[in-house]
Amino acid sequence: MTAELRELYQSVIIDHGRHPRNFGALANANHHHEGFNPLCGDRILIHAQTQNDRVEKIMFEGSGCAISMASASLMSDLLLKKTRAEIETVFADFHQLITTGHANQDLGKLRVMSGVHEFPLRVKCATLAWHALLAALRDVSGKVTTEDEEPI
Ligand code: ZN
Repeated sequence: MTAELRELYQSVIIDHGRHPRNFGALANANHHHEGFNPLCGDRILIHAQTQNDRVEKIMFEGSGCAISMASASLMSDLLLKKTRAEIETVFADFHQLITTGHANQDLGKLRVMSGVHEFPLRVKCATLAWHALLAALRDVSGKVTTEDEEPI
């Protein structure tokens, strides 16, 4: 990676870390999960709204280091209209990117996180929001289905 590119990536991370997109509560969310990274103290509460198995909107609350906030912010923009299975595929590639510096597919804006592979302790910061989102999509869907049942 060139010094110029590294600088650009860092400035995007700092920008998303300071001014996270999709930060706040989500009134129509039907999936929630809180993730905590004790190694760094990052705490992220994910709210997701799905329709027909596709994610329509992701918002998050919490606090943490620039890497954890930037990862949540980028993720919340890039995973819309995807199913949980599709998100799991993107996450596998993203995980490869931040642990090796390379990914199988073009991950678009997520590429700015590639420098994380040089700081193994930060991998958990970068993946926290993803784990929380996938847990939200797994756990709460069962409950929502029950609540959505027609009264007899
Ligand atoms: Zn962190």
